[in-house]
Amino acid sequence: MRIDIPLPCPSCGGKMYSVNYEATLKILKDRTWHVCKECKFSRNVEDFKKTLCCA
Ligand SMILES: [Zn+2]
Repeated sequence: MRIDIPLPCPSCGGKMYSVNYEATLKILKDRTWHVCKECKFSRNVEDFKKTLCCA
């Protein structure tokens, strides 16, 4: 599932969307990634949130 997000790509400034990967094992958390439509830059949202709270 892809959801457009209003954040610009930090690499090229292009539009991004978020992708949710469901964990196949119950012990693993579902993960969400932000992916750029233009240059395919991607980042893990959990890591992104950590950088926000520590900035
Ligand atoms: Zn980009």
